[in-house]
Amino acid sequence: MSGPHPGAGGTGAPPAADRLRTVDEHLAEILGAVPLLAPIDLALLEAEGALLAEPVSAPIPLPPFDNSAMDGYAVVSTDVASASEDSPVTLPVVGDVAAGDTGVSAIRPGLCLRIMTGAPMPAGADAVIPVEWTDGGTVSVRITRPAPPGHYIRRAGEDVQAGQVVLEPGVRLRAPQLGMLAAVGRARVSVRPRPRVVVLSTGDELREPGSEPAFGQIWDSNSFMLTGAVNESEGVGIRAGALTDAPEKVREALEDQLIRADAIITTGGVSMGARDAVKEALTGTLTFTKVAMRPGKPQGFGLLHGIPIFTLPGNPVSAYVSFQVFVRPALLAMQGLPPEPPGAGTAVLTEEVRSPAGLRHYLRGRLSSGEDGDLAVTPAGAQGSHQMGALAAADALIVVPEERDIVPAGERVEIWRLPR
Ligand code: AMP
Ligand code: MG
Repeated sequence: MSGPHPGAGGTGAPPAADRLRTVDEHLAEILGAVPLLAPIDLALLEAEGALLAEPVSAPIPLPPFDNSAMDGYAVVSTDVASASEDSPVTLPVVGDVAAGDTGVSAIRPGLCLRIMTGAPMPAGADAVIPVEWTDGGTVSVRITRPAPPGHYIRRAGEDVQAGQVVLEPGVRLRAPQLGMLAAVGRARVSVRPRPRVVVLSTGDELREPGSEPAFGQIWDSNSFMLTGAVNESEGVGIRAGALTDAPEKVREALEDQLIRADAIITTGGVSMGARDAVKEALTGTLTFTKVAMRPGKPQGFGLLHGIPIFTLPGNPVSAYVSFQVFVRPALLAMQGLPPEPPGAGTAVLTEEVRSPAGLRHYLRGRLSSGEDGDLAVTPAGAQGSHQMGALAAADALIVVPEERDIVPAGERVEIWRLPR
């Protein structure tokens, strides 16, 4: 990478052509450009993981009717008031009422009905005696314990009242929320969908894992890693595989993917090489810049027919860090969520780190529990932008600000916890 960059503590803006863009400037451009995804109507299971875009209220109370909380006998409580082990009360059983019975049942004092959990309470009954307190009789039943009025009855509306809002807009539809929607009778809901993100890698050297690379070739790792990173950022990752370094093919592939993409990520082909196909294919459509960060300096971003395109550098660690710094916040913003970094916090450095002045540095780190239970972080091995070993072993990124060149052991630093 050529050209000077602003030194630590430098004053005055360097000439525009030479000045690197700051991370914050590049992120601000991205967040200012990405669209908020329009709500769509989805069937419940398709809506899993999406954000609710409407308030949902209960059309009827839950439970909808008084029903039994136990398998047992529906009785008039005063009939069993004197029941005990020594002096049981025996009542004639005049029938059964089961969950799903749609007819209306009733009893008079002196009688009882066998009742199952979830069955509507018969008119006239005001308590349920669990089967464990009886001899289980079907013609008549011996009851050995009394029960107060209301015993083991689940009242209509005691869970949710008619008209009550059960889910507010913005809530993420996980399993319990899907259950709630179904419980109030909803088959479809309006949601802000999870962004579908197509991931394409580029490079003549790339081969599919599982195939045999020739000398000079490597397996494509970026597209798998970033598809996973999309899924970890509440998006839907769609891996579209590797392209060769042919600008017209890159452009064609991007145009082809637009139909199914809310955003597209490419890796490779954006730096200063003689065959930077992505840059060649998209110059004029996207903005290609150098951002004052390590790893991840060469970045491209823009909209292609309204769809955000992120062209990340090819070195795997650069691609991953660029994703966390720029793409993840954008995917969150597209869902109307705060564009936060993953798991931001602080930890105490266990060893000194050196960092290039003028660049924001993201090191791969390992968290541990320090003395007094404080969170500690240690750089996770070799920090080159091609070195996947340290990234795969890391559980955090260490963020060193632009103005620092040495951060001593014992200093508290910003960390981002990586999804585990
Ligand atoms: P580039 O940005 O295309 O110049 O690539 C920079 C470095 O990253 C080169 O060493 C590439 O071989 C490597 N690289 C690019 N794309 C991938 C990928 N999908 N998987 C693994 N390594 C890659
Ligand atoms: Mg390349």
